[in-house]
Amino acid sequence: MQDIAHGEEDFVRYDSDVPEGEKIGATKECAVKLGYDDVMELVRRRPPHTRTYEVASDVLERLPLDTSPTLRRMSDAEVEELAEYLATSSGSIVGPLKVIDHQCGHCDRVTTFLDFVKTAVDDGHHDREKLRNILAGTGGAWITIRGADGGRPVRCARCDSDVQLLPDGGGEYSEYSSSSYAYA
Ligand SMILES: [Zn+2]
Repeated sequence: MQDIAHGEEDFVRYDSDVPEGEKIGATKECAVKLGYDDVMELVRRRPPHTRTYEVASDVLERLPLDTSPTLRRMSDAEVEELAEYLATSSGSIVGPLKVIDHQCGHCDRVTTFLDFVKTAVDDGHHDREKLRNILAGTGGAWITIRGADGGRPVRCARCDSDVQLLPDGGGEYSEYSSSSYAYA
């Protein structure tokens, strides 16, 4: 496995041709999307940092993420709430959206995609418009792979408390998935 490009943004692309130490992110000319085997290798041997990678269009449907019994399908009302946050219509979001079955320990809000999305936008990891396009299926397919740093924090979209999904270290798990955006 080659090293992974480090871009200024948290969306990075894989480029096997750039020498070590000269990695750059996200220029279309040299961008190579991760294939299925690349992703599986990153899951097996997790990199130091949690990052989001663009992947080939068939990768997400091949990953065994949706088989996790802890992922539940979001309700129509929850998809509507997410759409409002992204300033779009729920009909434009390509489902099915699935999310870890969890409730905020502080205010009892049921965790949805929105909590992950809002935290990522608030922390500057993702851009709201880019996420809107990705979830609409027009912005490519992306996967966030949890690194040895334990993954990204997520905060409750209602009360802003830290949402503790797993004890430190975690295990093999996915927190959310859609046809164009997933976490592993
Ligand atoms: Zn809460």
